[in-house]
This record gives sequence, structure tokens and C-alpha cells, in this order.
Amino acid sequence: MRKPKVGVSACIVGQQVRFDGGHKRSGYVDGPLHQIFDFHPVCPEVGMGLSVPRPTIRLREVGETVRLMDDKNRIDHTDAINAFSQRTLPGLKHLSGYIVCAKSPSCGMERVRIMNEAQNGARHNGRGLFTAALMKAYPLLPVEEDGRLNDALLRENFITRVFVYQGLQALQQSAPDENALLTFHRRHKLLVMAHNQSHYRALGRYLAESRHAPMTERLNDYSTMLMTALAKPASRRNHTNVLQHIGGYFKRELDTIERQNLHQTILAYRAGKLPLMAPLTLLQSLLKRYPKPYIEEQHYLSPHPEHLALRYHL
Ligand code: SF4
Repeated sequence: MRKPKVGVSACIVGQQVRFDGGHKRSGYVDGPLHQIFDFHPVCPEVGMGLSVPRPTIRLREVGETVRLMDDKNRIDHTDAINAFSQRTLPGLKHLSGYIVCAKSPSCGMERVRIMNEAQNGARHNGRGLFTAALMKAYPLLPVEEDGRLNDALLRENFITRVFVYQGLQALQQSAPDENALLTFHRRHKLLVMAHNQSHYRALGRYLAESRHAPMTERLNDYSTMLMTALAKPASRRNHTNVLQHIGGYFKRELDTIERQNLHQTILAYRAGKLPLMAPLTLLQSLLKRYPKPYIEEQHYLSPHPEHLALRYHL
């Protein structure tokens, strides 16, 4: 599979584009993730015409609106960044994910500081203006902040979503028929089950009930439902259900001791004593001995490159 193309705030991958002439390189993003993603760096502030170095800018309330201000020099950059977003975003359709720099008034995704109008206080619930436009233009695109990628669950969730989104983009470009859509769904069933049980049921129902709807409409609805289901990280409890579900496929082949061993390993994972990789490795070895085509094709078994070791944490 080709590397997913992923947008990234340019300073995170070491480009010296910050207001002070420096960068904010993230070792994880510019290291392991750079190996699996084809990065497309963007600096909205440089893109809209600001220099390096430059005066600091920030979000500030002006009446009912939030503006991007250089308060020291009394310059309002809001129209410039909006114009940059408008001319840049149509060219980012091919991206399968986006990693943005936290706290930035242009790139931050959440909890960005917004000064009040009197400039004597602030709230911390803003979003950088470029990222806000990006997320509005591509509401299903997986977007994450560099800092949040230090959290093992959020990291795995983001990378998983990027690969699924890439798969959806390829599916849409292939002008799929009914069979291709159902095959795609079948391969993603257990992954969805691990993330969200009710969405798992809703997706199955939707595909059955929408059989006569136009394919474009079904693809759009399906993509929205799938990406919404995956937005929530998979819980330990849901993973346990999926592991037990897979284990059920070996009921006939396993003797009592093997069944107990599998059961105990899954329970130890559920109790937080073993990483997810432990029961998965056991199930993988059972699959080698007793092939099960439906299970083997599941995206759940390898949703991202193995060498990232995303399922080894407790
Ligand atoms: S946070 Fe965004 S706007 Fe600021 S330097 Fe980095 S890429 Fe440029």
C-alpha cells in the first residue's frame, strides 16, 4: 500500500517558519510517522504572506467575532488567513490526515487562547483559523495535534483513522459497485465493533436498507458513519468483545487447555495486565493453524504498520 499523504504544520517537521525564526520539531512526527506518511507541510502564516521572523499574533474577540490580530502593530490578519485557506484547501483533497501544531492561533485544534476584547483576560477554547477552515472543508478528515500524539490511545486512534480514510478515498475513486462496497465494509466490521458497538449495528442496517439508493449517496453516508464510529478510540471492553468474538471461531478446533489459555490471556488483557498484542498474537498463531478467511481479511488485525508497536502499551 502506498504511504498516505498527510498534511502537517510545517514547524512540526523542523521548518524554521515560526515567528521567532525557529521550529517546533516533534521527534515522533518527524521520526516514526515520517517513515509511514508522505508529509505535505503547510505554514499558513508564511503562506498568507508574513515574514520570518515576525511579530507575534493571537486570537482576540472583536465584538461577536474572533479575529487574528497583531495587537502590537494594530494589524488584523483575519482576512489574509481566510483568503489563504480559501485558495489552499481545494488542493488538499488528496490528504488522508492532518497533524497540526497545538496552541497556535492559526494551526491549533483545540483549547487555543482567545483574548477578550479589553485584553485583560482570556478563554482557552479557541481553534486556529486555518485548522477551523480545514475541518469545515473536510469534516471526515482525521486531524490531530502534535502534543496529543504522545497519548498512546489517541496516537493509535489517529493512525488507524488515517489508513481507513485512505482506504475510503481509494474506494470512492474506484467507482465501486455494490459488491465492492460490501466487501470494504466486511473487512472493517471488527474494527468498527472495537470502536463503537452501536455504530457497528447501525452501519449494517444502513447498508441493508439503502440498497436501492444511488451509490454516490450511499458512499457519502457510509463514509460519514464509518469515520464517526472510529472517531472514538477503541475501549478495552470493546476490544475484549472483539477478541472473544474471534476466539469463538476456534471453538471446534481447540482442546480445553488451549481454550482456557486463550480465555485467560484475553481476561489478562481486559484487566490491564497484558497489552492488546498478547491475545492478538495468540489469535494470529491460531489463524495460521486453522485458517478462517473472514477473520484473516479483517483490517482489525493489522490497521497500521507493525513496526510502530502501537498495540504494545498497557
Ligand atoms: S504553528 Fe502553523 S502558522 Fe505557526 S509556525 Fe507552525 S505551521 Fe506556521
